[in-house]
Amino acid sequence: MSVNISVYQSIKQELDAKQVSLVAVSKTKPAEDILALYELGQRDFGENYVQELVDKQAALPKDIRWHFIGHLQSNKVKYIAPFVHLIHGVDSYKLLKEINKEAIKNNRVIDVLLQVHIAQEETKFGLDDDELKNLYNRNTDGLPDLKHVRICGLMGMASFSDDLEKVRGEFRYLKSLFDWFSDVSIDHNQFTILSMGMSGDYQTAIEEGSTMVRIGSLLFGERNTAK
Ligand SMILES: *Cc1c(COP(=O)(O)O)cnc(C)c1O
Repeated sequence: MSVNISVYQSIKQELDAKQVSLVAVSKTKPAEDILALYELGQRDFGENYVQELVDKQAALPKDIRWHFIGHLQSNKVKYIAPFVHLIHGVDSYKLLKEINKEAIKNNRVIDVLLQVHIAQEETKFGLDDDELKNLYNRNTDGLPDLKHVRICGLMGMASFSDDLEKVRGEFRYLKSLFDWFSDVSIDHNQFTILSMGMSGDYQTAIEEGSTMVRIGSLLFGERNTAK
């Protein structure tokens, strides 16, 4: 087991002081690693792969709040819809509709974040500025069929770069969008969560207004990148 307990405790203390919540990203890590943090009181865990999430949810304590932080395919929503706590990476209206449909089947409202493309890299998923505004307007302009999803905020991933000033600029941009939406959000969509910051850049993200960080390798050690 490679869980770093003392790092967890100091990060947790730092985040608590700033009222930032922590999603411990446990993808590719075994159940025992998750339990080690669970025993210290950690309840929010993040996973990227549907099958892995479903297996872990079945095996681990039922009061864990599972965050889906990967790229979600519409045809897999049904597997996580019964229990998922927050879906971070919603980047299309099609996906939003599918989540709504599965939420109805499960007689619940599912909380989601819209993912915005903020990095200058091609590979990262997410909506651009216009797509985001279009999608959001579509949802709020009285589309009663989407009453079973609640858009709670935005999520973004900065460039994977040592240039923290570049990263800072990307976070700042996401925060400005977040503020814009917070002002216009209506009905049951309450913009309260800004999910940004990972192991390498979470401090910068917090300085720029993050309310939720997603940290994996600092807590659990490096991942086996074969996956
Ligand atoms: C893997 C992952 C993380 C955690 O990354 P670390 O650098 O290990 O902290 C955070 N967010 C997303 C979307 C991820 O896929």
